[in-house]
Amino acid sequence: MSILEILTIPDKRLKQKSSDVENFDKDLAKMVKDMFETLYASGNGIGLAAPQVGIKKRIVVIDLKEEGKSNPMTLINPKIIFYSEEKFVNEEGCLSIPGFYADVSRSNSVEVEWEGLDRKKNKKKLTGLMSICIQHEIDHLDGILFIDYLSNLKKKRALEKVKKFKKNDEKTT
Ligand code: ZN
Repeated sequence: MSILEILTIPDKRLKQKSSDVENFDKDLAKMVKDMFETLYASGNGIGLAAPQVGIKKRIVVIDLKEEGKSNPMTLINPKIIFYSEEKFVNEEGCLSIPGFYADVSRSNSVEVEWEGLDRKKNKKKLTGLMSICIQHEIDHLDGILFIDYLSNLKKKRALEKVKKFKKNDEKTT
């Protein structure tokens, strides 16, 4: 297993659309393992999408670690088939935008379809933080970042925060 490099804004690869996974092979299993290792190594991340580590495939890994309990979820080719009209505002952050947080309004519940590593189809209605997290991660697969929902001023601030964050990071490591 290996920890992968997480791309940060303004890397153009974060703005690209990812393609469906077609081969459910050993390489896919390894990719998912590496993504989980990368997510856990980040310390504070609860989800990671493949484009964030430079892989243009529709793969998402999530572990909300609610109440300290690990609950890893692997979603291959996930699709949202229903969005609730009821919204939920939550402060979001992103491993690709380190050091920046802002409120985003999203559907309080969604119904999601996805395939597992075993190619088995799953369908589930998700609410609250899980719903928010899934919407955030699936956005990554379409090249959308949570700052795309914010004003240009806030977007600029996010970019500055990341620049500063990376400078500090260089000093400490
Ligand atoms: Zn993100």
